[in-house]
Amino acid sequence: MKLTIGHLYPDLLNLYGDRGNIQCLSRRLQWRGIEAEVRPFFAGERVDFSRLDLVLLGGGSDREQELVCRQLGEIRQDFRSYVEDGGVVLAVCGGYQILGDYYRTAKKEIPGLGILPLYTEWEPGRLVGNIILDSPLSLAPVVGFENHGGRTYIGEGTPFGRVLLGYGNTKTSGNEGMMYRHVIGTYLHGPLLPKNPEICDYLLERALERRFGGVWKLKKLSDKLERWANSSIVGRYCDRGYVWRERVRRRLPF
Ligand code: GLN
Repeated sequence: MKLTIGHLYPDLLNLYGDRGNIQCLSRRLQWRGIEAEVRPFFAGERVDFSRLDLVLLGGGSDREQELVCRQLGEIRQDFRSYVEDGGVVLAVCGGYQILGDYYRTAKKEIPGLGILPLYTEWEPGRLVGNIILDSPLSLAPVVGFENHGGRTYIGEGTPFGRVLLGYGNTKTSGNEGMMYRHVIGTYLHGPLLPKNPEICDYLLERALERRFGGVWKLKKLSDKLERWANSSIVGRYCDRGYVWRERVRRRLPF
């Protein structure tokens, strides 16, 4: 039994340890006795979505994002069909922006894939720092690190989570990321999955269901280190007595 993970453009989109998401997906499959194959697709290579069970797009600077956009015309239709067929995608920061209609920088408009109904516009003042979310996909708070100049507008779309600490999509909306079918788009680097194992297992379960059918509930792992990494970030801000302290505390199952 095997799942294949497609890593799109690791040579261009790989900021703040986003590659760790791939390692986390692979290891958590292997720990359950399921094989994981990682297939990187470098800039210029043809992506065969029919073989893939999970797709990861990492973050990149504006310049790298623009380079990736030149490849998008070639994969737009296949990527869209993969998503509509329930294919699993994790897209982080620049990768998240790319899934939308466009990213407008101070100088130009970079077209996106148009897979998620969102758009992104650059504004002065980067949104940088640790971020904590309340997400319907995880009992534990979701923690990460954000660093983006773009503000992402998701309209009536479903956010990945509500911001407890940090900025999220626009700084003012209180929303972070977007979910659509089995796609998660988010600004959270860090990397996201090792510190938020419930999110990792959510993605794996959807991929297993699509590939092998039935309803999948993966057996629990001890996750001691993962919970420690997560709660140390939550605890750091709780201890400082921020206004949202009580909201975070109520979500803690540790
Ligand atoms: N270029 C995008 C922005 O600054 C994304 C940056 C990133 O991936 N960290 O908004």
